[in-house]
This record gives sequence, structure tokens and C-alpha cells, in this order.
Amino acid sequence: MVDRLPRYAAGKPPVAVDGLASYKLSSNENPLPPIPAVVEAIAAQTDFNRYPDPLSTKLRTALAGFLDVPAEDIVTGAGSLGALTQLLATFAGQNDDGKPDEVIYAWRSFEAYPICVGLAGAESVRIPVTADGRHDLDAMAAAVTARTRVILLCTPNNPTGPILTAAETERFIRSVPSDVVVVIDEAYQEFVRAEDAVDGIRMYRKYPNVVVLRTFSKAHGLAGLRVGYSVSQPQLTQHLRVAATPFAVSQIAEQAAVVSLQNFDQVVERVQSLVEERDRVSAGLRDLGWFVPDAQGNFVWLDLGANSAEFAQLAGERALSVRAFGNEGVRVSIGEAEANTRFLELCAVYTKPPRRS
Ligand SMILES: *Cc1c(COP(=O)(O)O)cnc(C)c1O
Repeated sequence: MVDRLPRYAAGKPPVAVDGLASYKLSSNENPLPPIPAVVEAIAAQTDFNRYPDPLSTKLRTALAGFLDVPAEDIVTGAGSLGALTQLLATFAGQNDDGKPDEVIYAWRSFEAYPICVGLAGAESVRIPVTADGRHDLDAMAAAVTARTRVILLCTPNNPTGPILTAAETERFIRSVPSDVVVVIDEAYQEFVRAEDAVDGIRMYRKYPNVVVLRTFSKAHGLAGLRVGYSVSQPQLTQHLRVAATPFAVSQIAEQAAVVSLQNFDQVVERVQSLVEERDRVSAGLRDLGWFVPDAQGNFVWLDLGANSAEFAQLAGERALSVRAFGNEGVRVSIGEAEANTRFLELCAVYTKPPRRS
């Protein structure tokens, strides 16, 4: 079974080019280091002979205050991917008759979904995104069968960029059976500026079959420490907690996340600087006549089709690593201002821009 799973191709580091600083724009990482208070808190820790708190009580308490939800409704994991793996292991797998459960998600979306679904023993049902990179929610609702256990919604969608609106998400949740778990993956929530965007936490408050996934990897710049969480009502969390990997969140990760939340104003400032860069890049591409789907995360999507590998190669020659997905397109993470400017300079001389199809 494992050999039939797609491989997770992590974003590659840039190849060195003489005379040019290299930039990694291939993993949607935060180009800025964690805030100083977090770095200090990490340096101050020494208790590594001890296991971490398996319930991440400090972090869940801090998050409960931050989100205004009961701490019992939060389950932490090794990144939101850890939380997602727990969730799929809990709710989707193989049935007694040997047939797999179905998990529906948009495609292209987060590369880890097919791997996590496959590992859980369930079957992926992928519904193509629209030409402007949005979830086709009508088609996703129509794909629900008696075997559907989980639906993954990704907003903003990685790698295409657009959000789901509150209205369309709520309509969708109401249209699917209430025993189907609807996951709202909000890894880039802090970067969203669209006013009509869904707020997963509001959906969780209203609907007992909704699970929200959030992470410290992107906005907080803590990807390397692996800490994320899910939020859902007790009828789901009671099962999720049982499936949680013991000690998945280390004490370093927990403490870093707590201190980052305590200094959220500084996180917001950094995120805002990246949002401004994202909007500068999107506007720059549109000025060149390029079609870019609405970018609400920390990345832009270039629908380059068969030219994707060629474009990624040209970026590499300029010491920029970007992420090409087969013959579909290229995702470029927002990085340091100099990296973003160099990317725009490449686009200005590239003669086969993506057009709205
Ligand atoms: C980056 C990302 C994650 C986060 O993964 P972590 O395990 O929290 O680092 C989750 N979902 C999506 C869509 C992502 O792009």
C-alpha cells in the first residue's frame, strides 16, 4: 500500500549562483525568523530530560484565551499535518467489508492530502478546482456518497491562493450530511485580507461536524518546530484526543507557540509586511498582463501548464527556488523583498505568461 502513495516532494533549497544571494521560495515558509521573545524563550529551556506535557495544557490554555473557545475543544499535534493525520486516522479508513471510506477534497490542493488519506487507508476523491483556482463546492457536494466520511476544505487554497467565502462555506456545510466531518484547513488564515472570507472558528461554533486546522508554521514562522492544532466540538474532540500521538508537541515547540501568541502584535506586524509584499507581487504580475488567481496566502500561483518546469529552471538560474507542480503550474512563495523583486524581473522577460483559460 505504501508504495502506491504519492511521494511528498518538499520544496527544494535554491542552487547557488555566483554573485547572487539565493532565496528559497518553494515551501511557503515565513522568510522572517521567529520574534526575538520566542528565540529567547527557546534558548532559556533546558528540561529536555523530561517528556513534554502530553496534553499541551499551557498551549491549549493560551489558545483558548486567544480564540475564545474552551481548551477542551483544542487538540494539538506535530504541525497541523500531525493534527490532520490524527483526524483521518480517527474518522476515515477501511471498513469491515474491506472497502475504503472516501475523503473528498479539491485538486490541486495541499500536496500532503493524498498521502495522509492513503496512509489512513481511505480513498481520495479529488474534485478539480475552477479555472480561477477556487474550490468547486457544488461538484464537491455532488460527489458525496454513503462512503464519504471526511471533506477537506483548504482556505486559502494551497497552491492556487483564493479563499472560500463565509456564505459559500456555510451553504456547503448545510448541504452535506451532518455525519460527514468537514475540515477547514486554515494554515494561512493570518494572511487573509478578503472581507468575505470564511472564519473557520465561526463555523466550528455553529456546526458540530466542523474541524478547524491551524498552525504555527506559517504566520508565526515556526515551521521547523512542528506545532499545530485542531478545534472542534466535544463530540469530535473526544475521539481525536484518543487518536493523538502521545508527546507529539515538544516542550520547545509548546513554549515557543505560547510566547508567540503572547506577542501576537509583533507577529501581526510581520505578517502585514508579507501581505504588502504579496500584494506588490500580485499587482506587478497583473501589470505585466499575467493572470494570477486571487492570492490570499503567502504565495502566488502561476498557471503555466506545460511551461512550468521551464519557468522553474529559469528561476533556478537566478538563484530562486520555486515550486513546479508537473504540467499544471508553479507556486512561488513570498520571500524577502529582494527575492520578490528578482522574481518579478524574471516574469517581465518571460514570454509565455499564464492567461485566464
Ligand atoms: C503549510 C500547510 C500546512 C501546515 O503544515 P504544518 O504541518 O502545520 O507545518 C497545512 N495545510 C496547508 C494547506 C499548508 O499549506
